[in-house]
Amino acid sequence: MPKQEVYIAAERSFTYQPESYRPVSSFFGENTFSAKVMRERLPREAYEAYLEAIDRKRKIDLELANIVANAMKDWALEKGATHYSHWFQPMTSLTAEKHDSFLEAIGNGDYIERFSGKQLVQGEPDASSFPSGGIRSTFEARGYTVWDPSSPAFIVKGGKGITLCIPSIFLSYTGDALDHKTPLLRSINAINDNALKLMRVLGNKRSRRVFATLGPEQEYFLIDKEFYYRRPDLVMTGRTLVGMPPSRGQQLEDHYFGSIKERILTFMHEVEEELYLLGIPAKTRHNEVAPSQFEIAPLFEEANLATDHNALIMEVLRKIANRNGLVALLHEKPFAGINGSGKHVNWSLSDDLGNNLLNPGNTPHDNVQFLVFLIATIRAVYKHADILRAAVASSANDHRLGANEAPPAIISVFLGEQLSKILANIENGAATEATNTAIIDLGISRIPILSRDNTDRNRTSPFAFTGNKFEFRAVGSHQNISFPATVLNTIVAESLDYLANTISRHGTNAKQAAIDVLREEIKEIKPILFNGDNYSPQWEQEAARRGLPNKKSTPASLPDMITDKAVKLFSSYKVLSEIELKSRYHVRIERYCKKLDIEAMTLYEMVSNQILPAALQFQSDIASSIEETGDVLGDSFDLTPQKEILKEIAVEINSTIKLKKALLEKRNQALNIADETKRAEYYYNEIRPTMEELREHCDKLELLVDEEIWPMPRFWEILFIS
Ligand code: ADP
Ligand code: MG
Repeated sequence: MPKQEVYIAAERSFTYQPESYRPVSSFFGENTFSAKVMRERLPREAYEAYLEAIDRKRKIDLELANIVANAMKDWALEKGATHYSHWFQPMTSLTAEKHDSFLEAIGNGDYIERFSGKQLVQGEPDASSFPSGGIRSTFEARGYTVWDPSSPAFIVKGGKGITLCIPSIFLSYTGDALDHKTPLLRSINAINDNALKLMRVLGNKRSRRVFATLGPEQEYFLIDKEFYYRRPDLVMTGRTLVGMPPSRGQQLEDHYFGSIKERILTFMHEVEEELYLLGIPAKTRHNEVAPSQFEIAPLFEEANLATDHNALIMEVLRKIANRNGLVALLHEKPFAGINGSGKHVNWSLSDDLGNNLLNPGNTPHDNVQFLVFLIATIRAVYKHADILRAAVASSANDHRLGANEAPPAIISVFLGEQLSKILANIENGAATEATNTAIIDLGISRIPILSRDNTDRNRTSPFAFTGNKFEFRAVGSHQNISFPATVLNTIVAESLDYLANTISRHGTNAKQAAIDVLREEIKEIKPILFNGDNYSPQWEQEAARRGLPNKKSTPASLPDMITDKAVKLFSSYKVLSEIELKSRYHVRIERYCKKLDIEAMTLYEMVSNQILPAALQFQSDIASSIEETGDVLGDSFDLTPQKEILKEIAVEINSTIKLKKALLEKRNQALNIADETKRAEYYYNEIRPTMEELREHCDKLELLVDEEIWPMPRFWEILFIS
């Protein structure tokens, strides 16, 4: 890219305008129709009925819905809203809205703002433009959205438009789930029912409700919009398809936690302000490992809320970036050779008394319960590592998993030294010293409280216990976290159910029975435990010996979603019916093919219209230059070294032309494969390698061709200028 334009991008004037300061607590949640607002605005009986409905003790009838709708409308109008929208999460990674005005004709040419309970509860977007994976036949395109009262409605401002957004689920006309939220809510029920069942077996009568908690840490890149729009690959696919890694990448390790640049800090500040208004408790922000890479993490919340909030965080990042002349890249691997982005999803279980069930407690009772829940989770991952892997499979995440910067495609569990010893002690039936700081006595199960400091942190593990929660690190950065959370909840619900049944069959002394059952379980499930370096090649061999699945690509992994085992799991716990599960498989395998197809065609166009013309131009410049030089200096002067440069360029151009043709041929071949699973495999096995090979030649040309005529911004410009 011409130097001058780079400098213009760099010098884009940035002036920070100090604003009047408001403490966050004074406006937190201001744009949400929160429980607090409801308490103030609803009649007392209505408010209490609403709370009972959320607690699943009663249904919301039309009368109650009318009262809530009216209060919601009045509140939204005061905030300046003109429209309302059911806000839902179709089976893409995005969220969807369809706006309707509050305006209603009341005759004689008069209009008022009105919002009825019926409109609040149910909407009918035209479902035909959302993926259904074959659930919906074309003649029955209707789908409908249904209000989710457990996640508060919120106001979204975009430019001059102000809209009331109502979190909703999205169903087909036959009642099948077409979205991410419905199965999540069902899995939350499954966790509750089976966790309580197990607690009762263990003699816990106090807890009345159990729910999953999620704390997703979101990574992203932030780049100048000017560069973004000059790269068709970024615009069309979210990642760069060609480009040489900069000479200075992350090897100096000076970006992570480094001080944050002023322009970025202003962006982050605006993001957080917006998130606080939406009642999203953004907590940490910092630079990440790669240049121009950052992370934002909220405090953890109940799973449904945390999932909605993560979807909103991604939207807010994009919106505020745009406002600041920046683009937030949420793709898992925007730049080859530079660390990619993931989402560490922290997961735990909590009860209505505020107890974290994965926190070792002070009393023997709590500790048995802790151990049972801990081992239930490990068992779940052992039994269903294949499904957990499939839950995070995508064309983008394929660039990360197993690429020695992110967890491998092998799912294993990291427990840390101390807990591993405790488990080994249980298995051996020995009451020995666990660590030098504390002793475990199996009879009374006294477990040292694990402080965060002594849970060693293993950054390479895809599923790590970090003191009082598990951290699922294989999730992709742009992915909706709903499905991974749904899978986790469901597989753990199954193990809780199984342990409850097994322990209650085992004997009358529940605690002793629990320890006896765990002893047997640990023997079976321990192949999934691994505290070592997950990036090492030895682990891959060791995991194979242990029989752990290692599915390296999306086409290889996705079929694990729809095995008989998976169908049985999801239908037994009423999370997804067989039809719903299979439709999800179809949507995802189809998206895989489409994404690769778009990438292949974008690369083809960039090579044809940008890279080859620039390279040919430069080739001709050099050829003329050599010719002219020869004329001036005469035959006796040796121009071989210069001719070698010319030859090198000509060779690369030839290879590029050859591979570009091959890419197009293969791509057209792919379109002829009717079976989508086979087509996905073809994209992975044939098209991806061809794209990689073509890229290598383009990148060589990038090093040869004059920077002034190279047709797109290079990595160093994009990553170091902001
Ligand atoms: P890092 O992994 O970057 O070192 P931390 O381990 O401090 O960061 O991550 C803390 C994350 O874990 C936060 O996002 C927080 O919300 C989340 N978290 C903490 N406790 C829980 C819990 N009980 N359930 C779910 N998430 C939790
Ligand atoms: Mg983390």
